[in-house]
This record gives sequence, C-alpha cells and structure tokens, in this order.
Amino acid sequence: MSLSEIQARIHKAETNAGRDQGSTQLIAVSKVQPNERVQEVLEQGHTLFGENKVQEVAGKWPAFRETFPDTQVHLLGPLQTNKARQAMELFQAIHSLDRPKLANTIARLAQELGHCPDLFIQVNTGEEEQKAGVLPAEADSFIAECRALDLPIVGLMCIPPADEEASLHFSLLRKIAARNDVAGLSMGMSGDFEKAVALGATHVRVGSAIFGARDYG
Ligand SMILES: *Cc1c(COP(=O)(O)O)cnc(C)c1O
Repeated sequence: MSLSEIQARIHKAETNAGRDQGSTQLIAVSKVQPNERVQEVLEQGHTLFGENKVQEVAGKWPAFRETFPDTQVHLLGPLQTNKARQAMELFQAIHSLDRPKLANTIARLAQELGHCPDLFIQVNTGEEEQKAGVLPAEADSFIAECRALDLPIVGLMCIPPADEEASLHFSLLRKIAARNDVAGLSMGMSGDFEKAVALGATHVRVGSAIFGARDYG
C-alpha cells in the first residue's frame, strides 16, 4: 500500500474517533527494507522513520540524512546499555526504555552529551516472558523513577501479544498513561493501527503495510 493510502486511513480513523486530523504521527518502520524503497518514501516527503537496531541505523542513515537532513529516526527495538551512547547520538527518540539500569545510563549520558532523545517507556502489557518492557504493575513506579532522573518521558509504548485482541492492550496502555499524566502513546502496527488511532495513539509504527513484507533472507 502507498504511503498516501496509509495516511488517508489514519485520517479517516482520526475523524471517526472525533480526533483532529494530523494528531497521530506515522512512523514508517524501515528496518530490513531495501534502500531503494526507503529512498522512495523519503522522496515523497516523509520525515519520520522507525528502526530496530543501532548497528543497522549507523550503517544506512548517515547517507540518507545528507540528502534529507530533516529526517527523524526513532529506535523501536530493545536497547543494550552498552549501545546507549551510540543510540543517543543516532536517534531523535527511543521507544524501548524498560529498566532502571538503562534509565540511569541514559541520565548520565544526557548530562555528558548535553542532550537527550525523547523517551517512551515500553510496557509489556501482555506480561509475555520473551518480550521487553516493564510489567503493568511496575509501570507507575518506573515512570516516577525516570522522572526523578529528569529524563524526558514523552510517552508509553506497547507491542500486544500476536494472538490477543490488540484493543485490550491499547486500552490498558492508555489507562496507565492517563493516570501518570503521560501524553504520548506509541501503539499500533500494520495490522491494527486504525484500532490504535481509535484508542488515542499519538504515534503508530507501520512497516510492512508501507514497504511490503520484510525479507530477512
Ligand atoms: C517491526 C516493528 C513494527 C512494524 O511492524 P509491521 O507489522 O511491519 O507494521 C512496529 N513496531 C515495532 C516495535 C517493530 O519491531
């Protein structure tokens, strides 16, 4: 599907939900996609992209940024503490803050670097063992802990379990955000972004619906 079709579907979902058109940001998830496809989307004027791996971004984005300097790239995948510095230099936002050790490292580096990307706290709404994120029951205290470190917490992020109704998880994330006064909600992917918009997503992360299936070959 084209970028403009996805944008149109987002606008329709916003209108249906009584939200302002343009109140949801579309993150085009370009991980693993061929450079030509990413280039096409850049040439259509899109400026917000999502990636999962620090190494992949270090390799491919510096060249794109020379031609498209206003591009923002958000980190969506898990972040190892020893890659935090590199991530803070490469990304304008990190959606996967999920543990005290990482929060402390980012806070220390922010002092040293004099800047910090926007941060989303990932919540493991499905309480899945293999998945990153703080548990819902620990979210309030972790948010408070991050704020005490002066970290710029702009939102919460979740990836619902593949076999469950995503809306239940989007609602839970929204509830946790509301009671903690967190404004941003990073939720919704290719298969369910309209549901996420209906439940208040401020950022949807759409990959394959824009670029086609990923070929991990
Ligand atoms: C890959 C990925 C996406 C995009 O998934 P699609 O199903 O291709 O839209 C969104 N969020 C995260 C965290 C991802 O890893």
